[in-house]
Amino acid sequence: MIRLKNQKQIDGIRRSCKLLAAMYREIIPRIQAGMTTADIDELCTGFIAAHGGVPAWHSEGFPGAACVSVNNEVIHGIPSKRRKIHSGDIVSLDVGINLEGYISDSAVTIPVGEISDEAKRLISVTEECLSAGIGACRAGNRIADISSAVYEVAKAAGFGVVTDFCGHGVGLKVHEDPQIPNRPGRGPNPRIQQGMVLAIEPMINLGTGDVRILDDDWTVVTADGRLSAHAEHTVAVFEDHTEILTIEE
Ligand code: MG
Repeated sequence: MIRLKNQKQIDGIRRSCKLLAAMYREIIPRIQAGMTTADIDELCTGFIAAHGGVPAWHSEGFPGAACVSVNNEVIHGIPSKRRKIHSGDIVSLDVGINLEGYISDSAVTIPVGEISDEAKRLISVTEECLSAGIGACRAGNRIADISSAVYEVAKAAGFGVVTDFCGHGVGLKVHEDPQIPNRPGRGPNPRIQQGMVLAIEPMINLGTGDVRILDDDWTVVTADGRLSAHAEHTVAVFEDHTEILTIEE
């Protein structure tokens, strides 16, 4: 069931999303080689708590505020004191905040030190996929229009698209309907309408789009061990425009 949000709910979700954007602005410049993924999670946890929020993933049973996925890890990397970040790594952060019951969701892939040209290209194409997906997210279109937009950009670049996981409705719960696949052609394809709040999140791989889950039951990695990048925004659909909520004004 798709829950359309009223203006009051969208205002609350927007506040949560602006806090998340502010968190990224503060912590991204502080991420550097030598830190552990647990150190990064601690920065997120501290910021969220200092501003009256709660890490949204706690309600899902995830052990951390931030999913921290390094290099070949696609999503859901568990923060660890044993996992050190090195120069040349790419680090995907996926964080959600519950602020007074309103949920935000956004992800970004960060280069650490000097990264390879192919890693740079992967990150920029993943961001282009997200932009294209958001561009197709407008009232009157269908969810598969978002899927097609994401997929076409990735395919034109020669990259793999992860299809085992997808974007989703968000705002009152972490995962709401509808699902937003990053490839068209599967599942229900509802019309996009005013009041939808959606998390659009391409996961793009240098090689195959196939993935597997590690024994920790969380961490998703590429099947071929090559790099993966992730980008995500929460957006709200209005009759005549779509607003990206998880950016600062
Ligand atoms: Mg999400």
